[in-house]
Amino acid sequence: MKTMIKILGTLALLLMLALPAMAVDIPSEVTLFKNVNIFDGENEKLLQGYDVLVIRNLIKQVSKDIPTEGTYELDVKTGGVKKLNVDVGCMHHYTVYVAGEKEKTEKKEVKVNVIDGKRKTLMPGLIDAHWHTLYVNMLGLDPLRTEETDYIHAVALKEADKTLLRGFTTVRDLGGSCFGLKKAIDQGVCPGPRILPSGTHIGITGGHADYTESWNLPRSIDGSMDRFEQIESFRQVAGVPEMLAAVRYNLKRGASQIKLLMGGGVASTYDPLDVNEFTFEEVKAAVDVAKNWGTYVTVHIYTDEGIKKAIKAGVKGIEHGHLMSEEAAKLIAKNDMWVCIQPFDPDMPGALEILGPEKFKKYLEMANGFPKVMDFVKKYNINLAFGTDFSFTPQNNHTQANALTKFSKWLSNYEILKMATSTNAKYFELSGERHPYKQGPLGVIKPGAYADILLVDGNPLEDVSILGDNNKNISLIMKNGKIYKNTIH
Ligand SMILES: [Zn+2]
Repeated sequence: MKTMIKILGTLALLLMLALPAMAVDIPSEVTLFKNVNIFDGENEKLLQGYDVLVIRNLIKQVSKDIPTEGTYELDVKTGGVKKLNVDVGCMHHYTVYVAGEKEKTEKKEVKVNVIDGKRKTLMPGLIDAHWHTLYVNMLGLDPLRTEETDYIHAVALKEADKTLLRGFTTVRDLGGSCFGLKKAIDQGVCPGPRILPSGTHIGITGGHADYTESWNLPRSIDGSMDRFEQIESFRQVAGVPEMLAAVRYNLKRGASQIKLLMGGGVASTYDPLDVNEFTFEEVKAAVDVAKNWGTYVTVHIYTDEGIKKAIKAGVKGIEHGHLMSEEAAKLIAKNDMWVCIQPFDPDMPGALEILGPEKFKKYLEMANGFPKVMDFVKKYNINLAFGTDFSFTPQNNHTQANALTKFSKWLSNYEILKMATSTNAKYFELSGERHPYKQGPLGVIKPGAYADILLVDGNPLEDVSILGDNNKNISLIMKNGKIYKNTIH
């Protein structure tokens, strides 16, 4: 019993540390996971039979034998905590007597929501580093052209909920303005993952940002915005002043990083994959503005010429990169850049129907580059992020976490899980003060981290595929301390 009292004391102290100095604001309830095995997002060793205490939206304690009840006294003036010599508090309650100034003592009951983890694996929520909130639930690109904006947002919001329920508690959105959706999700108006937004895609006329008819004049010539620019999806810029304005506009709205479309794309009509978009000066201008705001630029590019230009301009992230040479891979490693490559499946169901024969040809060429680039990633130890880029094929969305298994030829299960949790989170730290979530780290299970937590049936370190198939093996999903799925009772 003596050991128990000591632990209770530590616990009460932790409760108190959650308070602003001298203010008595003890939460009315906390969550305690009992008896779980922990993959902490960083270390290969699974911690066996641990408990995790969550207070408000943060993880407060990770240790063995955290008690589910107890009675304490907390002295607000000195910060001292002592175990009271009274019977243990009610079942699944912490009773805290707050001793204030003079003799005034206040009694607080804290309900402890105990979750019996039954030795399931507790791990950080998954992170997708290349996501498009607005496109992921859209069948083909045409609705962007034809549908009302609020319809587009409603469809996106529905999928945001499903994304969270697949175990993805954070996404980095790499294009298509979703600042309002992000705000609504962060405020708890509707469920969804945390979003690190980029804002409107920035590209060029005739490039990967151009979905207009071939005879549509660029804005700088005829003075009108096209539909995709109107809905803040794709912006075509020409020259350094327009680039400066576009980047500053995205930052003004709350972008945590900047995304440029620097080369040919699969879904766009006019640019073959080998096309190199933007001048060096334009890219450099974007990098300079991002740096002024303490953040970074990442670029859509497949080929060497664009990659080399990006490196020279100070870009930090390569999105895709499927057609890079070994020489480019070496340069990426030398410059400590990040690669977020997608394991696109040449046999992806529905790809031919959605893309049509011309674009499908581009898709195949790009998708077939994946194994070679992964060889380079391994050989040169390149910083690798996990991001799916699922867009315009909602029939495949349920396989978001299945994409993890596509890296198994090159990475161990541990390396894959680390990539999709703490490594992605580390990459996002390049946003500096523009990072929207600064209360604690993401992607890890440790005191002070955000309480973004999955409870998984089985051990994903042994079989990473159990995270796939639309969350069927994920018993519990918590984001920011709130539970969104729980099949354990
Ligand atoms: Zn993308």
